[in-house]
Amino acid sequence: MGELAQRHLTPAANAQVAALLKGEPEPSLAGVASWADTLRKSSPESYKRTERWHYVNFPVGTCAYRPQRDCPDGNCVVGQIERQRAILGDRAQSLSARRDALKFLVHFVGDVHQPLHSSNRKDKGGNDFQISLRTDLQPEAYAQQNYVDGVMGTNLHSVWDYYILASKGVSASLYADRLSALPWPPKLPSKSMNPADWAGESCKLVDSQRLYPKSHKMDSRYLDAQRPLAERQLEIAAKRLADLLNATLTD
Ligand SMILES: [Zn+2]
Repeated sequence: MGELAQRHLTPAANAQVAALLKGEPEPSLAGVASWADTLRKSSPESYKRTERWHYVNFPVGTCAYRPQRDCPDGNCVVGQIERQRAILGDRAQSLSARRDALKFLVHFVGDVHQPLHSSNRKDKGGNDFQISLRTDLQPEAYAQQNYVDGVMGTNLHSVWDYYILASKGVSASLYADRLSALPWPPKLPSKSMNPADWAGESCKLVDSQRLYPKSHKMDSRYLDAQRPLAERQLEIAAKRLADLLNATLTD
């Protein structure tokens, strides 16, 4: 997603991104995209403070965002996209604050388009929906103990965070190549640049039940069937991230 977005930055925004990410191990949008998740290990204190910034939960039966109800003190993905966008665009802020804001934004614009990060079901965005997934894909080291005889014990949230796209078996940059070959810009569900609307659209995908499997057991057929939707969300996220950065970083 980061790489796809980066391909559609204006030269001015691209130069700003390069200046902000100078000194990063991988100074690109894709290279910093998972930083917000790695805080869990690298900086448990800041992870605890920012944990709720990755998602928004709506009450059952609605996908209409109400800040006071759904995002107290701005501690949800919608509130943080707004806040980090403001920090990034504020030249009076320190370089390091703006750098962190950029890194958060790349991650959170991706998260808000992963439907289960903006859900109105009472299962913690699919984390409580257990799945036995038959897959050839070797899990990462920390999850190896859940992988027995080709079946991975996981949950629907992780299936959407990881398995649907990873099971295609191509690298992120090859993925970006393939998605770049599709017509640009992708068809957007709305022209809105308001993250509350983006979350509402994700929530409606969840609410439509289309992505909830009938069984807790699944295999590659579910992953293959859902991949077009997952890829579409990725393209939409890339387009909106590029637009957001172009608007914020181009003078
Ligand atoms: Zn996240």
